[in-house]
Amino acid sequence: MQILLVEDDSDLAQALTQTLKHEGFAVNHVSRGQQAIDVIKIELPDIVILDLGLPDMDGMDVLQTIRKQSADLPILVLTARTSVEDKVNGLDLGADDYLAKPFDVAELMARLRVFSRRASTQKHSGLIIGDVKLDDKSHQVFISGEEVDLSRREFMVLKALMENAGRVQTRESLESKLYSWGEEVASNTIEVHIHHLRKKLPDKFIQTLRGIGYIIKTINE
Ligand code: CA
Repeated sequence: MQILLVEDDSDLAQALTQTLKHEGFAVNHVSRGQQAIDVIKIELPDIVILDLGLPDMDGMDVLQTIRKQSADLPILVLTARTSVEDKVNGLDLGADDYLAKPFDVAELMARLRVFSRRASTQKHSGLIIGDVKLDDKSHQVFISGEEVDLSRREFMVLKALMENAGRVQTRESLESKLYSWGEEVASNTIEVHIHHLRKKLPDKFIQTLRGIGYIIKTINE
C-alpha cells in the first residue's frame, strides 16, 4: 500500500512517515498542496492523507482537485477544523474519512486498515459484514443465516451503508440514494428508516455520528 502524505508540519510528517513505514506502508511525503496535485497526476497512490491547513493552498481545494483526478482514491483528511460544518463540507467534497488534530496514531492506523480492507472486500460479490449478509440480487438480508424482513427503503439504506462500510454517509447522501430530485422528503425520514433498521439488526451495527451522519464500521475496529 502506497500512501501519499500531504503535511506541512515537518515534525508531525517525520513522525508519521516513520510510523507508517514501520507498519509496512510505503510513504511519499509532500508539504505543499500543489506538490500533492502534481504527484497524483503522475502516479496514483493507494491512499492519501491530507492535512487541510497547508501553506500554499486551501486543503479543501486540494481535496476537490484530487477527487476530480480520481473518483475512488481513498482520502483521509487531517484537520484542526473541528466544526461539524467543516466536516460535512469535506465529506461533500469527497473526503472518505476525518481525523481531528491532535489525534492518536493508533486511531490513524485503525482507519488506514479499514481503507486497505475495503479495497479487498469490494472484490467479493454480495456484502457481508460481521453476522449480516446482504444479497443484492435476491434483495434478501440475513443475520447469522436467518432472513430478516426489511422494507424496500430500509434495504436501500442498509445497502448504501454496507457498500460504504467504514465511511460516513451523511443524511443528505442517503436521501439522494433513496429519493428522486424534487420528491418531498420529511426531514426525519432517514432517522426513521435507521430507527427501524436498528430494531432488526445486531446491536450497534449502525452507528450515529452526531450531526454528521451514519456509519457501519467493519469488524475488528
Ligand atoms: Ca498544517
